[in-house]
Amino acid sequence: MDNLGCIVGALLYVLASFVFPAWAGWRASQRGFQGWALIAWLSIFIGAGAIGGLLALLNTAEPQAAKAKQQEFDVDGVHYRIESVVSRGEGQNKYLIVLFGASNASTSPQQIDSSRWRARIGASEFLPTRANLGFSRADHTTLNPGLSESQMIVGFNVPPDILQKGTTVRLLIPQNTNTCPSCGTENRPQSKFCARCGSALRPGYASIDLVV
Ligand SMILES: [Zn+2]
Repeated sequence: MDNLGCIVGALLYVLASFVFPAWAGWRASQRGFQGWALIAWLSIFIGAGAIGGLLALLNTAEPQAAKAKQQEFDVDGVHYRIESVVSRGEGQNKYLIVLFGASNASTSPQQIDSSRWRARIGASEFLPTRANLGFSRADHTTLNPGLSESQMIVGFNVPPDILQKGTTVRLLIPQNTNTCPSCGTENRPQSKFCARCGSALRPGYASIDLVV
């Protein structure tokens, strides 16, 4: 019977000190937290595997709220407020999910359809996904003038090697006007560069930078 206690004890020790931190490190690595993955793995060698693994697990737990450079902005009379940017999923199914509120700041009803949004990361552009993202929010709605805010969502299917922590994601939102993303100058609808500061324009889209 003493032997059984020994075996169970040894098994728990191996699980807590080696298997758990190795798994936590692998998981952190998959989600783009290379620093925490390294800490979990290194902690195995100094006999603090359980603590290192737990730290990595807690610090890489979902949902990962991200900072947004520009929390609130207006496009065509609609006021948008970014609530959080969440990275979810593993392997080839990694999603960048933007949760936001929208309210109508104009005097006429406004249609919002986030399925027409785009996400640009570096030179790549991503379309919104229709996958069930696990949030009960709308992706399109009609807003009447007034202050009540609709809770909305847009998610993009982004390969995990592209979506790393600290990545800048440029949201492209269809608009009727041609406003400069750098200085805010109104340009002619077909202009490719800002008449005031020379920044490249994306006619037909407003550009919003988020850091995930
Ligand atoms: Zn400009």
